[in-house]
Amino acid sequence: MLGVDVGGTKVAVAALNGLDVVARAERPTVLTSSSALLDGLEQTAREVIAQSAEPIAVGVGVPSQIEYDTGRVETSVNIPLTGVALREELGRRFGVPVFVDNDANVAALAEARLLSCDELVMLTLGTGVGGGVVTGGRIFRGANGLGAELGHFTLMPDGPPCPGNCPNSGCIEAYCSGQALERDATELARDKPGSRLAAALDKDGRVSGRELVTAAEEGDSDAGLLLGRFARMLGVAIAGYVNVFQPERVVIGGGLSRASHLFLDRAVQEAGARALPALYRRVEISLAQGGPDAGVIGAGLLAEHEIRNTETATQAPTQGTA
Ligand SMILES: [Zn+2]
Repeated sequence: MLGVDVGGTKVAVAALNGLDVVARAERPTVLTSSSALLDGLEQTAREVIAQSAEPIAVGVGVPSQIEYDTGRVETSVNIPLTGVALREELGRRFGVPVFVDNDANVAALAEARLLSCDELVMLTLGTGVGGGVVTGGRIFRGANGLGAELGHFTLMPDGPPCPGNCPNSGCIEAYCSGQALERDATELARDKPGSRLAAALDKDGRVSGRELVTAAEEGDSDAGLLLGRFARMLGVAIAGYVNVFQPERVVIGGGLSRASHLFLDRAVQEAGARALPALYRRVEISLAQGGPDAGVIGAGLLAEHEIRNTETATQAPTQGTA
């Protein structure tokens, strides 16, 4: 299997044998046009194929909304793929079956496999809040593949506007994302001249997430307050997911998870105080395990699942899907 992870800054490709990476390559994402991006993706993939073997199928994770059956990109905010029939286009280029899904969905699949768990909720805390749900060992997608947008569940109807491509206010993304933290840190810094955070304002008059984290690590009380609020909202969100999905595992990934020592314990405590006890007793909350290869591994697993399902359906139509 070939797994492809398309990110806003780089495209990574790996040849996979189950969870094992046999060969890999990456190069910067070309953002000038969709055809240039796909040319770059194909070149990277050819490089990996040359070091391994012709793949049976290709799985692709993209940071976009995907209509799963057709593999058409519905919307794509940071990379030029909106409206592109990605599955068809890549199928033509590679000559093998291609499966395309949202990157958070394939990351959740990778985590589920790494943890040997069939019921999992993954939250990806980065610039925004992404997420994926695995149930019965398979990715939950909703009717058209656009489902499980875990970051856009409302916590407060009159909360701050959602920083994502979303008309709502008070979404989880409006509280638990990098953008939300930067917004709050900047606001506090402007209101409190002379504070540690005010000294961290950059030339654009903003406090970066990194500066906020450093201030919190140094024991600054304002930064601690903001991360405490972040942790509390994250715990409220986790309690909701536990109650709805009853997962065995909730995993937290994404760039912000590197600062988990500043918020995870508090979030877990909050979730425990709110979730229904019978469900909460049976869940484990932890950091994601996948590391930098989770995206390519999850994409490869997606292709593996789909090929296995097709084979099962062809060979034993009366026995349903395995
Ligand atoms: Zn939203």
